[in-house]
Amino acid sequence: MQFDENTIRSVVAQVLAEVGPLPKANGSSSHAGGQYGVFYDADSAVNAARTAFEQFRAQSMATRKQVIDIIRRVSIENCEELGMMEMNETKIGRPEHKIEKLRTLGELSPGTEFLETKCYSGDHGLAIIERAPFGVIGAITPVTHSLPTITGNAVSMLAGGNTVVVNPHPSGKLVATEGVRRFNEAIVREIGIDNLICVIAEPTLETAEALFKHRQVALICVTGGPAVGRAALNSGKRAIVAGPGNPPVVVDETADLDNAARCIIQGGSYDNNLLCIAEKEVFVVDSVFDAMMAAMRRAGAVQLDADQISKLTSKAIVKVGDDQHDAACKDFIGRDASVLAQAAGVSVPEGTELLFGETDEHHPFVTVEQMMPFIPFVRARDVDHAIELAKFYEHGFRHTAIIHSRNVHNMTKMGRELDTTLYVKNGPCMASLGLGGEGYLSFSIAGPTGEGVTTPNTFTRERRCSMIDELRVV
Ligand code: NAD
Repeated sequence: MQFDENTIRSVVAQVLAEVGPLPKANGSSSHAGGQYGVFYDADSAVNAARTAFEQFRAQSMATRKQVIDIIRRVSIENCEELGMMEMNETKIGRPEHKIEKLRTLGELSPGTEFLETKCYSGDHGLAIIERAPFGVIGAITPVTHSLPTITGNAVSMLAGGNTVVVNPHPSGKLVATEGVRRFNEAIVREIGIDNLICVIAEPTLETAEALFKHRQVALICVTGGPAVGRAALNSGKRAIVAGPGNPPVVVDETADLDNAARCIIQGGSYDNNLLCIAEKEVFVVDSVFDAMMAAMRRAGAVQLDADQISKLTSKAIVKVGDDQHDAACKDFIGRDASVLAQAAGVSVPEGTELLFGETDEHHPFVTVEQMMPFIPFVRARDVDHAIELAKFYEHGFRHTAIIHSRNVHNMTKMGRELDTTLYVKNGPCMASLGLGGEGYLSFSIAGPTGEGVTTPNTFTRERRCSMIDELRVV
């Protein structure tokens, strides 16, 4: 099903008509008008989420799990419709991946089963350590995965017993609003509690700021680039920051080059390179550089020559800010390989997923988190040089790094040097999130603040309950 912007707007208008008079921006703190989690100002949304939290905390764990199951079901059953809505609204990425992300996050986001209880038992009785909710969480979500991030955050945050208010990216607000409305509508129908997940339907930097500052917001979780991470850390509240990356790949002389090529294409072209974990630049040791380029061509990627790369760069990279630094041009972020190829002056076979080519290390496609399906390949003298370059161009984000190698020493060295939250050996980036590798999935990977791949435990407080000298029955 296709949804153009007018259709989406009319769906949202219909929603807003149904939910009745909404609180005005900067209006009273009453949230009486809000329904199904849709609000226009932070104060009303947070107050509604706080009321919902009080109702939610009185429920059993079984009910909490039921709520999680509803979010999963809505996300999976609506993945095609909402995925296409997200595609048509944001106009970045690939439709099949927009759909797949909603389905996968619905299926695999960590739920109540992740909550950990610890117990200490000894001569002085028992101490039980349990995971308690914070209350209302303020969440900021990116345009690259608007509703998928909300889905994953909602599952894990509610599994922890919290409620959440989301300030989505303005360019993904319509699908965010419609998704949240559907989640709440189904939860109200089955459980009778509204506003467990709230969304600000007209998000701005001011509504984000109001969320950060609100007395009733106990915890902040932001997923996005450097600016929002800084803003969250300056808010004076505890913040979980899932920040930017620029994931480097190292290919050494021992690697299975055909496997490396397939993995780089799979990870680097997924949703047109919008994943924060996606392969962004590749450092290949000189002795296998040409063989690696041939492996990429064999695997179906299209190689650009120096002239074509330069044409593409002149359009896809722009100068911004007082210091005129390089940045990705919005018109090219997340666009199809064929669009990039056209900018480079070449036409590519239908179905081409990824472009690649040789650049030097200073090329903007290496230095910038470009989020486009063109991957620069840089020659390194040897593996030590490749690791050195990878470390430099990861920019200290400590986000994600990848190596293709059969040499355990090289793997170990790179792991130690780069010190990233995710480190993949011989697989595509998504294998680090349990998609083709071990482990579990979340689209909020908290590198800067250290929580890693977020789970319900991330969104809980530790509480200890001690029984003195009794109840140790062994
Ligand atoms: P973005 O930084 O432009 O926006 C992210 C969110 O922050 C949006 O909702 C935006 O409105 C908000 N925002 C931006 N500046 C703000 C400020 N000063 N105060 C309050 N809110 C502010 O990023 P994007 O283009 O939407 O998403 C891509 C970025 O997100 C990339 O850098 C990517 O690496 C990162 N990302 C990280 C993860 C992770 O798990 N670590 C996951 C997905 C995306």
